Amino acid sequence: MDLSPVWRLRAGEHAGEVAAPGIDNPAQGSAPSSLSAEIIGAGRVPAEVSAVPEAGDRAARILDMDWPQLKAAVSGCQSCALCKTRTNTVFGVGDEQADWLLVGEAPGAEEDARGEPFVGQGGRLLDNMLGSVGLKRGANVYIANVLKCRPPGNRNPESAEVAQCGPYLQRQIQLIQPKLIIAMGRFAAQTLLETDATIGSLRGKLHRYRGVPLIVSYHPAYLLRSLTEKAKAWEDLCFARRTMAGL
Ligand code: URA
Repeated sequence: MDLSPVWRLRAGEHAGEVAAPGIDNPAQGSAPSSLSAEIIGAGRVPAEVSAVPEAGDRAARILDMDWPQLKAAVSGCQSCALCKTRTNTVFGVGDEQADWLLVGEAPGAEEDARGEPFVGQGGRLLDNMLGSVGLKRGANVYIANVLKCRPPGNRNPESAEVAQCGPYLQRQIQLIQPKLIIAMGRFAAQTLLETDATIGSLRGKLHRYRGVPLIVSYHPAYLLRSLTEKAKAWEDLCFARRTMAGL
């Protein structure tokens, strides 16, 4: 499918005017639960100093990481069952000080094979969309996913997987400090905005993720299936450009 013609600026339109190691591996980092149970069972350690890390402790440690620590933690992550089926973790790609952050759902087969987000057909469409408004992957743009590992068969992410992976994306956003986030697709939008609202009701409005302006658009894979929605995605990108210009 030739994707590029749909994503060219029309005459007269231009931008702004148009409508740590061990943290996730119990074997390395923290006491296995059996050890903890044994100690607690023996009555030697009070519950409040249990060796089992609470979810909050794990998140707090992730939120304290620098880039190398975060990358290492993701690449060694064993916090959910997706680690058993993945080929590669897919950390994210681009300018680590980007103004633009695009967030998708989870890696697909090609992303899992290559370790980079949006490198399949949807990724080519995304690159065309970015190019149409003068943006380029890696140049003031960072691309990440909610999940860092591919769900088998591209099934929907499960809430437990999102809960484990969430702090990684949160830390990426803290480190990048983007000016604007574009949530691509229902799943990214609902996760970042902590809502069940439909994508239709979320589009066209300026939201905030922890203070960072956020715009919702369609997922590239959806656009590949639904040509009529490309016009709406184009509107979303133009809205994002206008918003960025005013920030
Ligand atoms: N879909 C996504 O949401 N992310 C990718 O990286 C690839 C496909």
